[in-house]
Amino acid sequence: ELILAFESSCDETSVAVIENGEKILANVIASQINSQKRFGGVVPEVASRHHVEQITLCAEEAMTQAHVTYADLTAVAVTYGPGLVGALLIGVSAAKAIAFAHQLPLIPVNHMAGHVYAARLVKPLTYPLIALLVSGGHTELVYMRTAGQFEIIGDTRDDAAGEAFDKVGRVLGLAYPAGGKIDHLASQGQDSFHFPRAMIKEANYDFSFSGLKSAFINTVHNAQQRGEALSHADLAASFQASVIDVIVTKTLRAVKQYGVQQLIMAGGVAANSGLRDRFRQEIAQRDLELDFVVPPLRLCGDNGAMIGAAAHVLYAQGVRGDAHLNADPSLSFPYLAANTTK
Ligand code: ATP
Ligand code: MG
Ligand code: FE
Repeated sequence: ELILAFESSCDETSVAVIENGEKILANVIASQINSQKRFGGVVPEVASRHHVEQITLCAEEAMTQAHVTYADLTAVAVTYGPGLVGALLIGVSAAKAIAFAHQLPLIPVNHMAGHVYAARLVKPLTYPLIALLVSGGHTELVYMRTAGQFEIIGDTRDDAAGEAFDKVGRVLGLAYPAGGKIDHLASQGQDSFHFPRAMIKEANYDFSFSGLKSAFINTVHNAQQRGEALSHADLAASFQASVIDVIVTKTLRAVKQYGVQQLIMAGGVAANSGLRDRFRQEIAQRDLELDFVVPPLRLCGDNGAMIGAAAHVLYAQGVRGDAHLNADPSLSFPYLAANTTK
């Protein structure tokens, strides 16, 4: 089984060829980071234009790298939400065109399900499991009883983790996306500011990062007013320590309560080295029999491979999209939405 998978929900245009939901034959990613940097974030119009320019090139490149032709394909998969509507539409249109021109089944995929299934490209998933989704737009704890079933047990009340990284990065003058740069700075500093750990003790699995963001911004502005220069490395380390403390504490509490043996961490923020290290440390220290799976960096950010991995499961479940498949910018779990037929 070979699936050609499209991803264009935000600022990465990506097309992959995935074999049996687990093997990457090609995963071409065209990032728009250089143009988004100039605007300090993702501008929807700019993103859409890039997708239009890149998507056919990415598809051709993916097929070439994978050494496959349209006749070899089993199905075409595409992210149809959540994300930027104009960006999603480019992928949806391209996938539909190829699927119908070559009479291939079309498989609509939820972007966040894709982030979870990025882990399937590393190893088999064992259910039930918990997935921690930490990305630019989401911070969610998802319980999966079995394949394709998503129950959100925790969510952010305000900013997503990645959004918080990007916003405090901006205050330090770092270009968008700032997560990786904060991560690097943090490794050179100390948690000397002791920012608040919001909701860490509350008996739920929800998160809040806007208070932390405000505390950070106030600290920087107050210092500026006093004409005092603060260590950017310490600020980054303090911010990151707070995010990590809350996420790791609440996630491991959920793992215990739900009695799962596999924990997946996915999404762009899963690239954070401090977060990865701390999970590994805590799991070892507490002697937990927990299989902690984090995709390699390239599969943490947005990519077509993860969409192909998720599509494999949906394909087996008989999920198909038709010519009416539309982008759904606010698509949520569970994702067998109205415009898919089962
Ligand atoms: P969503 O998946 O919720 O729709 P998105 O697709 O924009 O949002 P991703 O591309 O999955 O999000 O992740 C991008 C985010 O990951 C950005 O906010 C970026 O700052 C953050 N990020 C990337 N690398 C790191 C890192 N090393 N540490 C922390 N954050 C990081
Ligand atoms: Mg992105
Ligand atoms: Fe994403």
